[in-house]
Amino acid sequence: MTDIPQLVTGLRKTFDSRLTRPIDWRRAQLGALKTMLLEQDKDFVGALYADLGKPADEARGTELQFVINEIDHTLEHLDAWLAPEPAPLPEKLQPGTAQVIREPLGVALVVGPWNYPLHLALAPLVGILAAGNVAVIKPSELSPTVSAAIARHVPEYLDPSAVAVVEGGIPETTELLEQHFDHIFYTGNGQVGRIVMTAAAKHLTPVALELGGKSPVIVDTDVDPVLVATRLVRAKYLNAGQTCVAPDYVLAIGDSGPLEAALTDEVRRKFGADPSTSPEYGRIVNERHFDRLRGLLASGRVVVGGETDKASKYIAPTVLTEVAPDSAVMGQEIFGPILPILTVPSLDAALAFIRDRDKPLALYAFTDSDDTKHRILDETTSGAVGFGHPVVHLTATDLPFGGVGESGMGRYHGKYSIDTFSHLKAVLDRPLD
Ligand code: NAD
Repeated sequence: MTDIPQLVTGLRKTFDSRLTRPIDWRRAQLGALKTMLLEQDKDFVGALYADLGKPADEARGTELQFVINEIDHTLEHLDAWLAPEPAPLPEKLQPGTAQVIREPLGVALVVGPWNYPLHLALAPLVGILAAGNVAVIKPSELSPTVSAAIARHVPEYLDPSAVAVVEGGIPETTELLEQHFDHIFYTGNGQVGRIVMTAAAKHLTPVALELGGKSPVIVDTDVDPVLVATRLVRAKYLNAGQTCVAPDYVLAIGDSGPLEAALTDEVRRKFGADPSTSPEYGRIVNERHFDRLRGLLASGRVVVGGETDKASKYIAPTVLTEVAPDSAVMGQEIFGPILPILTVPSLDAALAFIRDRDKPLALYAFTDSDDTKHRILDETTSGAVGFGHPVVHLTATDLPFGGVGESGMGRYHGKYSIDTFSHLKAVLDRPLD
């Protein structure tokens, strides 16, 4: 058993020694993190398959390569992002200068989930190190093979006096949360998010809560159902639907018939007549989630899919129609390969439906109308909006990533990570004469 208080004290000593201050040290650590991902590729890809049945290409693209891109982007812009930022000074304070300096916060804690267990443990670490902090990483116990691989390799590549990995579940996380951190970065569900925030309040520690929710997709009347189906199927069934920004449900304006037909064709085209044999399709993380998802299949009429196999935790890519707004599948974040379609008579009805519910992490829409896009942006709130292509906004390196309301607080990626893991110190300097 790791002595958690001692571990955190040791990390704080490292931070206080100013080891992490030089930009060269930060660059070297980011370089080492990239080397780890390149050299241990097979080990991580194998672990992602063991825990989630993740196909190798998908694992590389959405986990390893994602973090590598984040490292490359950060290394390219780090000097500019960390440069003191001059600020204009009001006339009454002149002569003088004003600037904003980004200084590291100290010891950060990252608590990660199981669905993208490598990506969501390491992408925050990129920002933490780039901003000059030290960190404890606590990967999810529900993806134990990936957690073990992170715990094995991180100390081989990164400075162990600055980055520690603690494995375990609720008891370990609870003990970690009792310590004094300077930032806590949590990704997972809102119930635990509340526990994290309560624990952080004791030390007045700032938190970022990267949570989930039901991300809707509005499909307008004027769009090509084949194009919509191609992009929706890719986004929805990635990682067997276990993606925080996965399209959760569709609000089809008017007749959903053409979209249902196109989705059926696209599911068969992409995964074959029997998706359980497709090398491109993953599995459900555990039996608890499998049972929960199987129960949701009764919420509507199955258009395509619906097959399940408990032994292999397989649930087919499924589309449901004739779904009531108060059905079980609409009462929780689905977080699995089930796509309910609800029809609404108008854009007004779609917007009202979304506004009546928690603010989603992402809101997607397929529409050709600029007026409709404007109304969606103006009349709804969500962590992000994606027009024409769900999920991919996550890979736009200069966009902030994060939720609002029930979908979370705080943001990261690229420059936004530097700001999240830094204190923005205001400096005023007036001459003495
Ligand atoms: P999970 O069960 O792996 O939990 C996340 C972390 O919380 C784990 O490290 C776990 O050990 C810890 N934890 C669990 N219970 C705890 C407790 N009682 N006290 C302290 N720590 C505890 O993951 P999950 O919550 O099932 O993840 C799925 C949720 O995460 C979904 O809602 C999904 O949308 C959301 N998510 C959000 C993002 C994002 O970036 N916004 C990304 C992925 C997942």
